[in-house]
Amino acid sequence: LSTTFTAVTSDAVRRLNLSRLLRQVHVHGNLTRSELVADTGLNRSTVAGLIREFEDVGLVEEVAGRAGGVGRPSLGVAPIPSAAVVAAFDVRVDHVVAAVMGLGGVILARTETEIPDSQSGPDDLVRALVQTCEQMFHEVPEGAAWVGTGVSLPGVIDPESGWVRVAPNLGWRDVDLAALLADALAEHFSGSPAVALANDANAGVLAEVNRGAGRSLSDLIFLLADVGIGAGIMVGGRLMTGTSGFAGEVGHLIVNPNGRSCRCGNRGCWETEIGRDAVLRTGTGNRVSVEQVMDAARAGDENAILGLKEMIGWLGIGLVNLINSFNPQAIILGGHLSALMEALDADIRDTLPTLWSASSNQLQLVTPTLGQDASLIGAAELAFEDLLSNPLVEFERSPHLVSA
Ligand SMILES: [Zn+2]
Repeated sequence: LSTTFTAVTSDAVRRLNLSRLLRQVHVHGNLTRSELVADTGLNRSTVAGLIREFEDVGLVEEVAGRAGGVGRPSLGVAPIPSAAVVAAFDVRVDHVVAAVMGLGGVILARTETEIPDSQSGPDDLVRALVQTCEQMFHEVPEGAAWVGTGVSLPGVIDPESGWVRVAPNLGWRDVDLAALLADALAEHFSGSPAVALANDANAGVLAEVNRGAGRSLSDLIFLLADVGIGAGIMVGGRLMTGTSGFAGEVGHLIVNPNGRSCRCGNRGCWETEIGRDAVLRTGTGNRVSVEQVMDAARAGDENAILGLKEMIGWLGIGLVNLINSFNPQAIILGGHLSALMEALDADIRDTLPTLWSASSNQLQLVTPTLGQDASLIGAAELAFEDLLSNPLVEFERSPHLVSA
């Protein structure tokens, strides 16, 4: 009995060690053996053994190390992007951004597809995603293991069932999108890895923590503005979901009780004051895209500047509520909020921190390092989770891409 127990335990330890090492290489890229020893807390010979196992299956390779320091550069261990790939989709209200990401975070293919209103139901969307996948896979080297699929979307994901509970701006309610998509992909490609879903703001905060402005931070908020407003909230290094997935639905914080009515039934929600419709109402009110309004403000159009200035006021009121609730190290302003900050002069932007200087003067207010791709990259990172938590087993059982 004790022998069995020991065997199981050492298996679990080996799996954990493989997971730790591959995660470091995936997130940080080329690392020397000494860095891997330091980062994983494992000893040198264990690290050497793990590297050999990954080399044997072709997930990592030894490459010339980085120069710098004294002596000759030591060899580094780097991920092989075309060895394991994921498909990732960022579903927005009227279009989808899609990518194939390789191990190590390298984008191997990327495409954007318009989704007309009439085709934004789950079944049509799934069909469009399968087609997009097919197109993108032609750009991926043959033989790559397809280890996961991730989808980011503007909706509430139930943490228990994994269903899209509600996605008001898509008009969805209670949709098992992960199963629908996995089934359709499996049918089309004769096999498919699992599908992971995330709320778009939650995906954004994960991506910025791994590869962007949130690196080394444990308390931060990724605020994403598109048609609606959502927040990915990280507290003490953990993503908040709330009891039923609604945490971070900050678009419905009431900032202006006398404001416009919101689709949620209340008045003056944050979303009605700084969401996409609010930007489009700005200035002459006949501009059709957020970019046009921002361009007008940059070109000195007084109406546009006035409107955006007012929006900065509403942005500030919502922010001060978040800051006093969560005391974050940083707030990352994603979606059109980055453009809003950039379109206005510094003296207007600088009025913001005065709102919370007393409570949180250390706060960094930044734009996403990953730009408009934060949610897409977050969806890809989620899709890598199965491989990263049980590397060799998942690699072995994933479908490998062959050209048609
Ligand atoms: Zn509302």
